[in-house]
Parts: sequence; C-alpha cells; structure tokens
Amino acid sequence: MKPRALITGIGGQDGSYLAEFLIARNYEVHGLVRDSMNKPRLHLAGLGEALTLHRADLGDSNAVGALVASAAPQEIYHLAAQSHVADAERDPTDTLRQNVLGTLNLLEAARRLPVVPRFFHASTAQIFGQPSQQPQDETTPIRPINRYGQSKALSTELVRTWREAFGMFAVNGILFNHESPRRGLGFVTTKICRAAAAIRAGHQQELKLGNLAAVRDWGDAREFIVGFWQSLQAPQAADYVFATGQLHSVENLLEIAFGAVQLDWRKHVVVDQNLLRTTDPNQLVGNPAKAARDLGWVARKPFAELIREMVYAAGAEA
Ligand code: NDP
Repeated sequence: MKPRALITGIGGQDGSYLAEFLIARNYEVHGLVRDSMNKPRLHLAGLGEALTLHRADLGDSNAVGALVASAAPQEIYHLAAQSHVADAERDPTDTLRQNVLGTLNLLEAARRLPVVPRFFHASTAQIFGQPSQQPQDETTPIRPINRYGQSKALSTELVRTWREAFGMFAVNGILFNHESPRRGLGFVTTKICRAAAAIRAGHQQELKLGNLAAVRDWGDAREFIVGFWQSLQAPQAADYVFATGQLHSVENLLEIAFGAVQLDWRKHVVVDQNLLRTTDPNQLVGNPAKAARDLGWVARKPFAELIREMVYAAGAEA
C-alpha cells in the first residue's frame, strides 16, 4: 500500500512543491481546496492519478471530518492559510476563522481516526512579533504584533496542546520567509523580481516600494518542504524553526534582482510612504540548529541564486 498524505493549501507555493515531492516518493496525495474543482491550478498540472483533490470549507467541522475520514491519511500537512499580512489587517475576523478554526477542525478530525495521522502545521516567525532575542528559536516567547501573527500564534498553541495533552504526533514548523518562482504575487520578493523582468522587457517603468532598509531571513521553499516531511518522519514530535539564519535587506534584494537583468534599481524604484507598514516585525532571523541536529535539515541555497532564478522565471513568463 502506498503511504497517503493530505495537504491543505495544495495549490499554493509550498503545497504544490510538497505534492510533487511526496508523489516522487510514491505517496498517494489528497489535497483540500476551497473553491471550484475546475479552477485552473497551474502548479498541480501533470501530477496525474497520484493526486486527488477534494473541495471543503476548513471552517466547517462536518465537512473537514468527512474529508479526513474518507482520505484516511497517515500524514496531514496543514498549509492552507490566509497568509498575507496586509490582507489579515483588512479582515481580522475572516483571518481568524480560516487560520484558527481550520486548524482546530483538522486536529479534531485527525484525532478521531482509528489510526491517528501525523500532523504538520505551517506556523510562522511572525508569532514572535518584535522579539528581544536574536536569533529566534523554538523557545522564543510568542508575542505577535499583527493579526496574521496572532492567528498563527493561536493555531500554534492548538497544535502544541493536541501534542502535549492529547498525545498526537503534531508538529509546528515555525517558518521564516521562503520564496521561489511560485511565491504569491503580493510578496516583496515576487514584486521586485517581476518588476525587474518587466522593466527589462519594457512593459513597466517604475516600481513603488515601502521600507528599503527592511531585512528578512529569506530561504528557498523547495528546501523548506523537505523539512516539513522530515519532521513527520522523526522518532518524536516537536516544533522546529525552519530558517536560513541569514538576514538580507530589501535594498540587497534590489541589487541582485535588477543586476540579474543589467539594470540599476536606483533609476526605477520610488519609495512610497503609503507602503510603509506600521505592524511589521523587524529583525526576524531564525536559528535552525534544532532542525539541523534532529532532522539533518539545512538551508543551502544561496540567496542571490534564488533571487536570480525568480527574475529569470518572471522574464520567461513576461
Ligand atoms: P500560499 O499563499 O502560496 O498558499 C496558501 C494556499 O492556501 C493557497 O493555495 C490558498 O488557496 C490556500 N488557502 C488559503 N485559505 C484557505 C482556506 N480557507 N481553505 C482552503 N485553502 C485555503 O502560501 P505558501 O505556500 O507560501 O505558505 C504555506 C503556509 O506556510 C501558509 O500557511 C503560510 O502562512 C505559511 N508560511 C509561509 C511563509 C512563506 O514565506 N512562504 C512564511 C511563514 C509561514 P487559493 O489558491 O484558493 O488561494
């Protein structure tokens, strides 16, 4: 029998890479989607019969219960979330419903199966808010400062409780930023890489950005999803920070992205005060030592290589 996995958020960046990774390892993969089964899902094309999609509302406990029971997975990867900080500020109620209730319904549905599956939850560094400790690790206090971070903090605590009080094999991956050519359009890496390609092609003249001095710990999504899987193969369930441990500024990103297409970013970038965030955590940098020690997971992709790849992929699409 093939191992079976259920992935929520399967159409997104991480979900689609994880589906490919698992299918290559002979898994039967089930995916939860929230809207029409007929919606084109570019990143899932070509995965064939090893992939089965199911439509369900994560906020509906009956629907989630029925889906989990019918798929009967050995592993659940809960990656679906309203994952954009600005969208979460605009609609905090819906963000909490999707991110927290969805996690609760899945954990409960999983716990009721005769063979309880292992459970991975995609948490985020944003649960740490403005930490006094640098870098952050699994022991850093959870003190979110925005709605997205708050919703993920609550989900993270649910997962811990289901592990510690109810004995489930449940893992929080505390994820620092990770990117790829499949990264969503609203994120700064994608915005910059696509703009560099579009300006080079003559389709765009300028790029408006907020704080150019903002720094992030940016890794490669294709390495992160391997860590998700490794965390569910470990002898014991625990939380893990997945991060590179390296900080880069937006300005540094601009140098690399525009440099990849022989442009000087200073001639094209306009700082727009309206794009400055008031609830943006700074200095989030992760210490992935526990994942390295327990799982053998290490982020290897050089930042410049990742950004250049994103620019070339955007150029090929333009
Ligand atoms: P994406 O935004 O690319 O993918 C999220 C997916 O979740 C999308 O396919 C989306 O579906 C789906 N989704 C959102 N809400 C729901 C819902 N209510 N019901 C069903 N599906 C839903 O995110 P990533 O792949 O980049 O991230 C995966 C997870 O990791 C997310 O939970 C994110 O918060 C977390 N994370 C990611 C980081 C990163 O840097 N990438 C950093 C820290 C945490 P649709 O296609 O319909 O929109």
